[in-house]
Formats: sequence, structure tokens, C-alpha cells
Amino acid sequence: MPTCLITGITGQDGAYLAQHMLQKGYRVAGLIRRSASSDVIGERLRWLGIINDIELVDGDLIDISSLIRVLQKIQPGEIYNLAAQSFVATSWHQPLLTSEVTGLGATKMLEAIRITGGGARFYQASSSEMYGLIQEPEQSEKTPFYPRSPYAVAKLYAHWMTVNYRESFGLHASSGILFNHESPLRGIEFVTRKITDGVARIKLGLAKELPLGNLDAQRDWGHARDYVRAMALMLQQDKPEDYVIATGKTTSIREFCRIAFSYAGLNYQDHVVTRSDLMRPAEVDVLLGDAGKARTKLGWVPETSLEAMVAEMVDADLARHRARAA
Ligand code: NDP
Ligand code: GDP
Repeated sequence: MPTCLITGITGQDGAYLAQHMLQKGYRVAGLIRRSASSDVIGERLRWLGIINDIELVDGDLIDISSLIRVLQKIQPGEIYNLAAQSFVATSWHQPLLTSEVTGLGATKMLEAIRITGGGARFYQASSSEMYGLIQEPEQSEKTPFYPRSPYAVAKLYAHWMTVNYRESFGLHASSGILFNHESPLRGIEFVTRKITDGVARIKLGLAKELPLGNLDAQRDWGHARDYVRAMALMLQQDKPEDYVIATGKTTSIREFCRIAFSYAGLNYQDHVVTRSDLMRPAEVDVLLGDAGKARTKLGWVPETSLEAMVAEMVDADLARHRARAA
């Protein structure tokens, strides 16, 4: 049975990727770090109904000895490195932790692969945040990077280490430069989920206002379920390469608010307030991806529209709040 190891399996993408790999007939193992709240940590895997189909193994991206032990035990043919301190805003408050996990963590996994010599294929979760202050109106694999946060700088380091280990040691290491992708399983601190959760609370009379920061930023938003398919496709290729994964459409936060509130029969202008403390020290104003290479070489296309995704997210948040109130 083909075996994969997913770091970050308790996160949004880890959960959807685990589900996808199980459907493809893989044995799926996931790295899980020690937590005092271990009863709630697998919430996303439980939501998808797959927690009992996965082998969870103890380890932390900071601790290379744990990674070596996990590789020796699981002997994966494919490793998806999704673990990270993944929230841009936090990266200004915890820049060293972000560098350690999001940056050096990838190198530790690459080193663990070299040391154990199992020849596993490697996927690195790179990010469109690496484009930051964009150097071209549409960003492709050839666009120069200009990171704008400690998170993006750490991701850029991990990205180049992945490229370097591929070129230096012939590792089958690929990097997916994924633009923002969301779902009902997105962390509540990210703007899309914060909005859909806010819509649900306001609709149910649990809140009146939704405080946000910069409404004019624009993002190329896709659905996480579509994006994890692309990760798996990258590791099925004979040749390891880097790919941009995006929808090719960009939308402002303001427009996202309009769509989400109007789906629930509300007007966002009656509820959204802006707060200066939610603005960032350096902003990424606009991102728009060109996924032409993935379309041609991987045959990958996104299947979920922004409107359908927003509806799914608002419905899920309404259901969560109704269940809590019952
Ligand atoms: P999440 O924040 O939902 O998940 C992050 C995961 O990393 C969690 O499972 C978390 O575990 C784990 N983790 C954090 N620190 C460590 C550590 N020291 N050791 C082991 N595991 C750790 O992220 P997403 O699922 O949204 O994203 C997946 C990856 O893709 C991330 O690397 C992210 O930066 C990147 N990415 C995401 C994009 C997006 O739009 N979603 C866009 C581009 C890139 P725990 O549950 O214990 O906290
Ligand atoms: P990011 O692209 O990985 O930083 O994803 P986020 O969802 O955290 O942020 C996307 C954009 O939304 C950024 O330009 C933020 O400045 C903007 N934004 C505006 N208000 C908020 C807010 O209240 N929370 C978050 N997370 N982002 C906000």
C-alpha cells in the first residue's frame, strides 16, 4: 500500500489532504505535536469523519530527532510538509518562532530525508505571500519574489531550500506556490472565516458588528479541497518541479463581505466596522495567480467558484452556532 506522511495534518489543508489520500487508497500517517488539549486537536479530522483512518505519530517540526524517528517508523513514499506557523499577522509578534517552524522546519524535514535515506518524495507548502509587493500584475513561477512579513520571509527560505535540495542532492522535492485557499475548516483568525463566522453570529442575533482591518486588500481565493488535489498531483510527476496554484481571479475583502452578508440576507455596510489595530505593519495589497503551468502539466483546474465556497462556509458556521445554542 503506498504510504504518505503529512505534517500539519491537524490544520485545514492537512485534513483535506488526508481525506484525499485515503480516497486514493493510501495509508496516511500524520505528525501530531504534543498538546495539553489533545482531545480537541483533531477537530478537523473528526469533522471530515476520518480521524480513525489515520495513523497519528508524535513529533514536532522543531525537533529533528522526532522527524528521523517518524520517518524510520512510517517509511513514507511521499511527505507533504504542511506544518507551519501559518498566520501572517502573528509572524510580526513571533518572528523567531515563525522562522524556526515555517522556515527551518522544512530544512529539518529535508535533512531527515537525507539522513534516513528512504528516498521519499517531498512536497513543500510554499505561499503566494512570497510575492508580497508584487513585481508583475499576474504572478507565475517566473515572477520575482518580494516578501512583506516574517512569515513570507520564512516561507521564501523554505522554498529555496526545497529547490536547493532538489538541485544539490537529486531529491524528488517540489514546491507548490499556493494562493489563498479557504473552506469551512479554515482557521477562524483568517479573514474569510472571520467574515463567515461573523455573518453567522450576526444572523443568529449573537453579535451586531464585525471588526475588520484593511477592506481594500485583494486576494486570489480558491477552495482548499481543490488545492490539495494539486499537491498530490505534483508528487505523481516523474520530474519534481514548482507550480503556482491559483484561480486567476482576485477579489477584495470588501467584495467578499458583500457576497457573504448578502448570502445570509444582510447588508455588510450595516455591520462591518474597520479598526486600525487590525491593519498590518506592511500589507500585501493584491495577489493574482497564473496557474497556466499546473493546468498544462498537471491537468489541474479549480472546480469550486468563490460564491459556492462562501455559501458552504456561511452554512457551516450557521450550523456550528445553531448546534452550540441547542
Ligand atoms: P493551518 O494553520 O490550518 O495548519 C498548520 C498546521 O501546522 C497545524 O496542523 C499545526 O498543528 C501544524 N504545526 C504548527 N507548528 C508545528 C510544529 N512546530 N510541529 C509540527 N506541526 C506544527 O494551515 P493551513 O492548513 O491553512 O496551511 C497548510 C500549509 O500551507 C501551511 O504551511 C501554510 O503556511 C501553507 N499555505 C497556506 C495557504 C492557505 O491559504 N491556507 C496558502 C499558501 C500556503 P496544531 O494543530 O498543533 O497547531
Ligand atoms: P493572508 O493573505 O495569508 O495574510 O490571509 P488573511 O486572511 O489573514 O488576510 C488576507 C487579507 O485580509 C490581508 O490583506 C489582511 O490585511 C486583510 N484583512 C482585513 N481585515 C482583516 C482581519 O480582521 N483579519 C485578517 N486575518 N485579515 C484581515
